[in-house]
Amino acid sequence: MEESRIILSEKEMPTVWYNVLADLPRPLDPPLHPATMQPVKLEDLEPIFPKSLIEQEVSTSRYIDIPGEVLDIYRLWRPTPLVRARKLEAFLKTPARIYYKYEGTSPAGSHKPNTAVAQAYYNKKDGTKRLTTETGAGQWGSALAMACQFFGLECTVYMVRVSYEQKPYRRVLMHTWGAEVYPSPSDRTKAGRDILAKDPQSLGSLGIAISEAIEDAVTTPHSKYSLGSVLNHVLLHQTVIGEEAKLQLEKAGEKYPDIVVGCVGGGSNFGGMVLPFMRDKLKGEKTFRAIAVEPTACSSLLRGRYEYDYGDVAKNTPLLKMHTLGHDFIPPAIHAGGLRYHGMAPIVSLLYALGLVEAQAYKQNEVFEAAVTFARTEGLVVAPETAHAVKAVIEEAKKCTMSGEEKVIVFNCSGHGFLDLGAYELYLTQKLPDVNHNG
Ligand SMILES: *Cc1c(COP(=O)(O)O)cnc(C)c1O
Repeated sequence: MEESRIILSEKEMPTVWYNVLADLPRPLDPPLHPATMQPVKLEDLEPIFPKSLIEQEVSTSRYIDIPGEVLDIYRLWRPTPLVRARKLEAFLKTPARIYYKYEGTSPAGSHKPNTAVAQAYYNKKDGTKRLTTETGAGQWGSALAMACQFFGLECTVYMVRVSYEQKPYRRVLMHTWGAEVYPSPSDRTKAGRDILAKDPQSLGSLGIAISEAIEDAVTTPHSKYSLGSVLNHVLLHQTVIGEEAKLQLEKAGEKYPDIVVGCVGGGSNFGGMVLPFMRDKLKGEKTFRAIAVEPTACSSLLRGRYEYDYGDVAKNTPLLKMHTLGHDFIPPAIHAGGLRYHGMAPIVSLLYALGLVEAQAYKQNEVFEAAVTFARTEGLVVAPETAHAVKAVIEEAKKCTMSGEEKVIVFNCSGHGFLDLGAYELYLTQKLPDVNHNG
């Protein structure tokens, strides 16, 4: 009997993170200081981030040990299962073999605790007492709230207003884990007040919420800021996903995947899944297609430019060389709140520019249609963000139905959608507006 759920024991859990910076064909362009436009000095970042994370951000060591305290918490839900989606395969009549790595088993319901726990650990170690952050759909805020609770840190979350209103239960989850939550734009910061003065009805955006969280961190003693995606150290922490998946595919008797898929907001779950495979591709040992899936409403790879841009609306962050729709771009209020970010991880942006990663974009209704198909075959109700990956997988598997090719398709199932049922209800009862990035 072939297995459907490929499980690793706790002993098989990776004890190092993989740092792709050691293997990139060319170095990433350095972040620029927003005032001088010169490469930032590491000490310039110290008001925002703790020293150990700044060091990780620029490290070129190929492997970085996962601290024991972090591994102890990872063990609450890791290793996560890799599941063969046999019922979906049967439904699509595809000869492809589809596997999903299920990150929804974490207490917060997504991959985000993989980095939240690591970031809270390093902040605690370096003397931080309080972390501030932004959140879109609430996935990141809830992951960080939980991680702060584990390490005795206070946590303040600026939540994009449209999600604050659409997703009240994520707010309750953050409160349950002890965080303070404010809808953004708020009147607590100059950045928030400036936006509200221009547009009192502002729906908010991740770019605005980041400005507020950074301003709060740099103006409050013992506080630092934490980002849930985009940065090198965040993708680093997420590589546990791909490292586990590689072991699991071997256990399943697969030689190598033909296609690896993930949805992309800032690029962290995609990077975490794909980078350990990319290591083999960069060495010239393996080939596969890496597909990053975005919403048409906020398509930073396909529609954005590859250039230096700020990470936030108030231009407080260093500039990163990345694919971007512009720091003042406010995406339409699609339900995949976690994909409403104007920029893309510099690592993913460079791999895309080098042709090592492909991008696809889909609209809300076709994405929810795919999610419903997945729920009716595999049972899982995935997050609206994750549903973008599901849509791309179904399309690739259908091509195999036509061609008869037995491709191995693996995707990162980044989270469950139990707190997104309002969006499912809208889709099931009245369909959703289909918006592209021009609104
Ligand atoms: C936040 C989130 C994403 C998007 O963020 P990335 O950094 O691109 O991974 C995707 N899926 C889920 C479930 C999320 O919570």
